[in-house]
Amino acid sequence: MASPKLFKQLKAKPPRDLDAVVHDLHDQAFTKIDCLDCANCCKTTGPLWTDRDRERVAKHIGMKTGAFEAQYLRVDEDQDWVLQTLPCPFLGTDNYCSIYDVRPKACREYPHTDRVKQHQILGLMEKNAAICPAVEHIVQKMEALYLTAGPSAESGKRSKRPRRSR
Ligand code: SF4
Ligand code: SF4
Repeated sequence: MASPKLFKQLKAKPPRDLDAVVHDLHDQAFTKIDCLDCANCCKTTGPLWTDRDRERVAKHIGMKTGAFEAQYLRVDEDQDWVLQTLPCPFLGTDNYCSIYDVRPKACREYPHTDRVKQHQILGLMEKNAAICPAVEHIVQKMEALYLTAGPSAESGKRSKRPRRSR
């Protein structure tokens, strides 16, 4: 579980090297964790579907956008398009996504720990630590780095990040 103390500290004074630290830990996490052994995000939290997502996926599976929306999606209380049911209906029993090449943008970007300006999405990281084992790993390492050594434990050069496979 994410440490409230860590996030309170990070939100109050984000370290200058926060992006570099999170990106390195993201790479480290995904060398240990295979999404195909997990799929927890697809099982427990569906993506928000943009206009382009709905049009692209509907076309891919040979449906009209309106029919696709009626069959799979609903508009939630925040007026966002979300899945009607979870686990995601496009998740296979083997944990593969059946629409992987055209999947929603939010699926491509999850768990968002390789994005820039991590200081703007710390709340999302805190929430995702309870869903995604990679984020949990990142948060645990950040606790060790920032709560033990303090914000002055900022690091120097960071390696270039490879893209993860899922
Ligand atoms: S992104 Fe995280 S929650 Fe989703 S499948 Fe990969 S490790 Fe699991
Ligand atoms: S569309 Fe694919 S990647 Fe996105 S939640 Fe469904 S199964 Fe997972």
